[in-house]
Amino acid sequence: MTDHEHYEAVVVGCGPGGAAAAANLARNGVETLVLERGVDAGSKNVSGGLIYAEESAPYTIDSLFPEFREQASERPVTENYIHNIAGDRVKSFDIGDLHHHDTEWADAVLRRKMDSWLAQRVHELTRETGGGLLTEVHVTGLLRDGGEIVGVETEELDPIEADLVVAADGVNSELARDAGLMDWEDPEEWFQGVKATVEMDPETINERFDVDDDEGVAHLFSGDLFDGVRGGGFLYTNESSLSIGTVFHLDSIAEERAEPHELLNNLLTHPLLAQWLGDEYEELEYSAKLVPDSKGRSHVPARGPPRARG
Ligand SMILES: Cc1cc2nc3c(=O)[nH]c(=O)nc-3n(C[C@H](O)[C@H](O)[C@H](O)COP(=O)(O)OP(=O)(O)OC[C@H]3O[C@@H](n4cnc5c(N)ncnc54)[C@H](O)[C@@H]3O)c2cc1C
Repeated sequence: MTDHEHYEAVVVGCGPGGAAAAANLARNGVETLVLERGVDAGSKNVSGGLIYAEESAPYTIDSLFPEFREQASERPVTENYIHNIAGDRVKSFDIGDLHHHDTEWADAVLRRKMDSWLAQRVHELTRETGGGLLTEVHVTGLLRDGGEIVGVETEELDPIEADLVVAADGVNSELARDAGLMDWEDPEEWFQGVKATVEMDPETINERFDVDDDEGVAHLFSGDLFDGVRGGGFLYTNESSLSIGTVFHLDSIAEERAEPHELLNNLLTHPLLAQWLGDEYEELEYSAKLVPDSKGRSHVPARGPPRARG
């Protein structure tokens, strides 16, 4: 196959996975083009979100991007609690020791800010290799020559050839399925995550959560406020907002005929949260996403080197 633009590597998606892959490739001198369908990287991405640096991990996000914590994350998590709720009764436990096991640090993050910061770094790094980051490009499938994957097809551009395609298009990766690297049609379990971001100025956060500017709290919630649906809730402090959300087993939501936004509302309106939310609060953003339980469910084909990675 000829006549198509060619790069040594094409990375599809510029979430944290794609950014890490692209940065590593670029630092190793590999000519890398990153294709992201969002207007801005992160514009549609959803997570709770805390990001962890594990002591035992071979690399962490701040080892790949040294200024990450200073510029792209929110507050470090310095306190962790879990609250077991039965009606209006609450039993709270400090789980700091448990949570910090094998954790070098954990920071709260907001995806739009984090992903666009990562995208900027990725663009700078990949440009040095003769590649770069293109946004608003939707990859529609893999380009094949015979049986071999030789690049990608997109909605907006001519096909692009590459020696290596990295499918970093998220946990529901269509490309990894297309390449035969995910061997499941339907995962056994899906989780439904719903999250609200609530505006709050930094001084109010410091006062209500009893923290300093460089400190933050992670609260987890379990118990009967979720109408018997299996799952739980979380609240994380950002610099000037709170991330409050729930994650449930999808089959349990269906069994109980529950509405995820109502379950989140049960959390937001519980008296325990009034001490932090006050009488009035403004939701800046509301987001939801289905996440498959993909643990141990992907495989690499037995023969031949993999050309695409999920
Ligand atoms: C409610 C909720 C809470 C969560 N909480 C946490 C948490 O606290 N901490 C944590 O670590 N994880 C959390 N997660 C999981 C986390 O969101 C994912 O693990 C993480 O986003 C995976 O990163 P990624 O780069 O692989 O994929 P993504 O972040 O999904 O990024 C994929 C990128 O690829 C782009 N893309 C997709 N398809 C195409 C295409 N065809 N063409 C071009 N671009 C494409 C997307 O626009 C996106 O930018 C949570 C998830 C949910 C839903």
